[in-house]
Amino acid sequence: MVDASTPTPDAAPVLDGYAHVYSGKVRDLYAPLDDAGAPREDLLLLVASDRISAFDFVLDTPVPGKGEVLTRMSLWWFEQLADLVPNHVVSTDVPDAVRGRAVLVRRLEMLPVECVARAYLTGGGLREYRADGTVSGLTLPEGLTDGSRLSEPLFTPSTKAPSGQHDEPMSFAEVEAAVGPDLAARARDLTTRILARGNEIAGERGILIADTKVEFGVDDGALVLADEVLTPDSSRFWPADQWEPGHPQPSFDKEFVREWLLSPASGWDKASGEAPPPLPLDVLERTRAKYVEAYERLTGRRF
Ligand code: ATP
Ligand code: MG
Repeated sequence: MVDASTPTPDAAPVLDGYAHVYSGKVRDLYAPLDDAGAPREDLLLLVASDRISAFDFVLDTPVPGKGEVLTRMSLWWFEQLADLVPNHVVSTDVPDAVRGRAVLVRRLEMLPVECVARAYLTGGGLREYRADGTVSGLTLPEGLTDGSRLSEPLFTPSTKAPSGQHDEPMSFAEVEAAVGPDLAARARDLTTRILARGNEIAGERGILIADTKVEFGVDDGALVLADEVLTPDSSRFWPADQWEPGHPQPSFDKEFVREWLLSPASGWDKASGEAPPPLPLDVLERTRAKYVEAYERLTGRRF
């Protein structure tokens, strides 16, 4: 249950034996200390907080349990995808203070690209299609609408913007220029295969994955799946039984928070550039329930 007490700022915890190295919008990263007390360079402790971001703002109100749902869901997917792509997970043996929402991972050189794939047309992809009939520069058939299924998943990469800035779409040629043609082609193939596999599995459980973002690191020349994978934070999840192209789809993901923020009830003007207001309790509660429901439906496990 969401506690009605004042929202606590969800800061990175101090962890004995680890040095804090970075905090993203959602995750806190630490380096384990070696015997001499120096931070190790080969490993990272990735701690998923309960912070929730929308429109590139971290909201003032954490969603209790979200970090654990995302961590468990990513671990489950890493296993489902293990024959397709190696991943960064080393161990889930982590300090008690962050147990369940942290993973020890290989510290990788990350590709400077957000690898996005789309299986259904919506969001930024739909906007580009409506403007000029293309998605990420690829011409699509006429007559597609919001929620249309694409004949196959498309790779629509974007930049990894420094925090506070928006990710911008990248053409495939720009990805090739950034990482070389060989890694670019492999990242494209893996990203679209991860989404296709994700939809094969999720489809059996009544969930469509409209699109997703993955991040790869490089280890010894090989691409390794890092960060998180196929979670409601990195992907749009839609209930399959309510899928109906032609209008925005109901969803299991942050679209729900986004809808509230854009509604008159929030009193927030996205164009103002100001930080959004805290989420009301009922929106928090329903958001938490959505995350848990997605986890339970996908994995068949109780949270
Ligand atoms: P930003 O980093 O721009 O704030 P974000 O808000 O999505 O993006 P988080 O998801 O909160 O970031 O933090 C995760 C960070 O850890 C990302 O910058 C990601 O690239 C990085 N990361 C994930 N896995 C690894 C790994 N195995 N090795 C190195 N870095 C990693
Ligand atoms: Mg992230």
